[in-house]
Amino acid sequence: MNSFGYKIVLLLTSLLYAAIAWSSPWIGTGQLPSVITDKDNLSVLAHLKTLSSDQFSGRKFASQGSIKSQAYLVSTLKALAIPAFNNQYRHGFKQPGIFQTRQGTNIIAHIQGTQQKDEYIVLSAHYDHLGTTRNKVYNGADDNASGTAALLLYAQLLKKKPLKHSVILLFTDGEEVNLLGAKAFITQQKKLLRRVKVNINLDMIAGSKQTKKLRFLSKDLSQILSTQKLEELTQLQNHFKIHSSAHLTAGFKRVKSVGSMVKRTNWLMASDHGVFSKAGIPFIYFGVGTHKNYHSELDDYAHINQAFYLATINVIFQQLNYIDNAIYESTFSSAAILGSQ
Ligand SMILES: [Zn+2]
Repeated sequence: MNSFGYKIVLLLTSLLYAAIAWSSPWIGTGQLPSVITDKDNLSVLAHLKTLSSDQFSGRKFASQGSIKSQAYLVSTLKALAIPAFNNQYRHGFKQPGIFQTRQGTNIIAHIQGTQQKDEYIVLSAHYDHLGTTRNKVYNGADDNASGTAALLLYAQLLKKKPLKHSVILLFTDGEEVNLLGAKAFITQQKKLLRRVKVNINLDMIAGSKQTKKLRFLSKDLSQILSTQKLEELTQLQNHFKIHSSAHLTAGFKRVKSVGSMVKRTNWLMASDHGVFSKAGIPFIYFGVGTHKNYHSELDDYAHINQAFYLATINVIFQQLNYIDNAIYESTFSSAAILGSQ
């Protein structure tokens, strides 16, 4: 096709999209906050670039690179005036080994809700990655500097405009070592767990240059959302499948090929959300699934898909806002039903 034909197709496509958008219940209703500015986009990319630079040596569990990453997260949260969780940002845990006990550290912050102060949404992203082996730095830009940087931006946005529920910003350590940080959080915060409504976990949301879809997996949302709100959430997700360049898509591919091997992935336990789910907490997990740069030294800032990443950040933030409100309204309507009986 020549470039003129291409332009005609583009024009027709945008007209079609505009027509669909016009008929969509999510456009123009004011329900979706569009508060992520160009300045925010620059700041989230800067966080991602810094965290995935060689100075952090791949952010390996219990390494100097990890300590540097922790310092970066804490100083950023402090600069944004985001309160620490239970008066401290660093929540340490021990990992006993055959030769030595290693020290892990989750970084946790907290933003009080406007209505349900004692009920929580836990936003999680692991900041650790694979480290440096034989002079190769595994920078983990997608895995998971992408989720970590997104959480820093969300912290900033939620500080300005808090949700109805309180939000715990959980930057986990040791995800790459069998989900250690998430397990430590669950063990250390046993009393709090029954007040955690949902875990929203971000792991690999920037992809590679070829990545086209942001995928999600959720479980047990019917515990917190009414049937109507669940349906609305599905509509919203369908909307983002068409109207966002994140092309939000339900479910992950069950098989991946690693070299000549074909592996099945248990996506339920593929990241920190699995630990929350085992503790009975509903979750939504966002990620792109595996791709050619996954766990390779090519997963660096130069190889992520920036435009796609900015779209995923927006799509996830809008769902977070929707879910916060929907949990509140579901609770309120079921309380009203109970009260009238
Ligand atoms: Zn990961």
